Amino acid sequence: MSKEDIFHDRDEGIDGYTKIDRYNPQLIENLSTTYQEVLKQIGENPDREGLLKTPERVAKAMLFLTQGYDLDATEILTSAMFKEEYSQMVVVKDIEVYSMCEHHMLPFFGKAHIAYIPNGYVVGLSKIPRIVDVFARRLQVQERLTNEIRDCIQDTLQPLGVGVVIECRHLCMSMRGVQKQNSVTTTSAFTGEFLKEKTRAEFLNLITAKLG
Ligand SMILES: [Zn+2]
Repeated sequence: MSKEDIFHDRDEGIDGYTKIDRYNPQLIENLSTTYQEVLKQIGENPDREGLLKTPERVAKAMLFLTQGYDLDATEILTSAMFKEEYSQMVVVKDIEVYSMCEHHMLPFFGKAHIAYIPNGYVVGLSKIPRIVDVFARRLQVQERLTNEIRDCIQDTLQPLGVGVVIECRHLCMSMRGVQKQNSVTTTSAFTGEFLKEKTRAEFLNLITAKLG
């Protein structure tokens, strides 16, 4: 069975944990066997009660956290694109981001703030957080995640410009004690109008402003 067959009903809006139970059983079994081995290798006893179902749970969690590989962000945006003469900046801020660093396979998480200036087309607002998930739910580095979101919006909507700012904490840094526990990594990526100081300042102002 191809990985493509693992996911069903991906557009029905069901939550991820319902989806998990529909994963390919063979893939779950293979991964479970692997995680059982990992438990042994780190000195655990996979047969003790608390760990009996852990390999299977981890397998399902990993498939959930990497389901972005099977989703097409361009298709998601295209499905909700419509003609509109609105030409002011559209900002979606405080989008939750949960991803995993590709170096340690540990989580990094935080917020994404995304803006674009339409050029004849706008997109349904709920699709912006969805494409963040598509690129975040795979092994990533924050810099590439930022660029991929920018490029996808730019290439699909062809707006006058795109701005993306992402702020995340990386558990591979805080848990491993490499840096101060509370450090936040900020990345940004811009195109078009957002390369101009004035537009970028307006965007940064909007995402740091609190709602009255
Ligand atoms: Zn890492």
